[in-house]
Amino acid sequence: MTEPNSLHFENVRVRIAPSPSGFLHIGTARTALFNWLFAKKHNGSFILRFEDTDRERSKKEFEYNIREGLEWLGITWDEEYRQSERPAVYQTYLEKLLSGGWIYRCPHRIEQSNTPHICPFRDQDETEEGIFRFKNNEKKTITFNDMVRGAVSFNPKDLGDFSIAVDFSRPLFIFAGVVDDKEMHISHVIRGEDHLSNTPKQILVGRALGFPEPKWAHIPLILEKNRSKLSKRDGATSILDYREMGYLPNALLNFMALMGWHPLDDTKEIISPKELIAEFSVERIQKGGAVFNIDKLNWMNKQYINNLTDKETAQLFIPHLMNAGLIKPEIKNIQFPAAYGGYTPTETYVAKDGKSVRLDYIIQIAALEKPRIEKLSDITVFGDFFFCKPQYDLELLSWKGVQPLEDIRRKLDITINLLDKLENKNFTKNELEGALIPIAEKEGKGELLWPLRAALSGKKASPGPFEIMEILGKETTIERLKEAKKRLLEHVEKI
Ligand code: GLU
Repeated sequence: MTEPNSLHFENVRVRIAPSPSGFLHIGTARTALFNWLFAKKHNGSFILRFEDTDRERSKKEFEYNIREGLEWLGITWDEEYRQSERPAVYQTYLEKLLSGGWIYRCPHRIEQSNTPHICPFRDQDETEEGIFRFKNNEKKTITFNDMVRGAVSFNPKDLGDFSIAVDFSRPLFIFAGVVDDKEMHISHVIRGEDHLSNTPKQILVGRALGFPEPKWAHIPLILEKNRSKLSKRDGATSILDYREMGYLPNALLNFMALMGWHPLDDTKEIISPKELIAEFSVERIQKGGAVFNIDKLNWMNKQYINNLTDKETAQLFIPHLMNAGLIKPEIKNIQFPAAYGGYTPTETYVAKDGKSVRLDYIIQIAALEKPRIEKLSDITVFGDFFFCKPQYDLELLSWKGVQPLEDIRRKLDITINLLDKLENKNFTKNELEGALIPIAEKEGKGELLWPLRAALSGKKASPGPFEIMEILGKETTIERLKEAKKRLLEHVEKI
């Protein structure tokens, strides 16, 4: 649904300007998303600019992490820049400001807080050492029209003389950002509300250099449920950790978009990237903090997983199963010498228990376990027993914890004898039910089926025994039941 009176913007050029001094976390990713949606909606360009002027703190590994995170989310960029590669640009503008009397050198340190710096060196033009400070002579209130917050005003006195560069080759981000926004023809600066206090400073620098002022939009911070600042645990983890945990990129995108923005139809919660682009509008970004609710993310992820086919789900399970050591690829059909990396990957895997497993097997598991799964990695917890022998305490085999060992053993025997008579091809849910249910009704449903299911899965909760047996097949099923019986006997002998 496109908003009838939604504004249209021409020549939109926006950017995300991360400092590669940390991983791509959810705050920056969401700012990138809002910029990207805005660019896409208005046929504009989205730019990735690494603000790496802080040489000590900027690291290549963070740059890779940021790029990989954005790529995984599908947030594509049209141009890419690195401030460390553009020193001449900043030097030119610094010289301009210096010759115009807009800045001066000051031997004091860069101010660490927002306390205005009143500098005794501002009129000593002969000083040649020290950092560059902006000579703030502004008397009039600095006002700008923020697209999210409306008119925002600052008293220039509160800014003091603020630092903009350590020296000609080391610009600070406040200054480098203004220069780049002008050089890169940025039309709209959409960024976190934490930058709000930088805006009047950047406006003054921009005015001194005669730059056109971009439009500003400061988006709300992401908060914990109790409205405190987002903790490391929830939000400040790397976006790639969300991939590791088994969130789908489109689910995370959807979730992030709704942190601080909502579509015209506010009841709609599942929105594809395409719809987000069509429906995005800065006018509907909220002013107040946006709450990070992990339960909502999990719910959303579940909806996205449910919309996948079983084959897609199985394919997405594979890296998680591999990570957990439950399967590894079986490399067959070597076509070229290994030195050429020339393996043809097959769709066959070796499970932890040594059995050979094909994609079809994982597809069956996906069909069965999907309804219970919120994150792809859940399969390694809920479905591990499909790939290795279950680990469990003997008490688990006892129905309601009161079934005597002797009875469990007897029920397992009955089940084994019955299953032994079935052919492997008849190991289907329906056939198995047909064979076992009548006996179970006679012997006690719980007493017969609980030990069976527990011996197969090693879990208190799992899908039903018939579904599990259909997937495991006759051989493994009987193996597990015999193993349970053996353990019971060993236990009885010991006491
Ligand atoms: N480099 C700044 C940051 O990492 C971004 C500044 C801006 O968006 O103007 O938050």
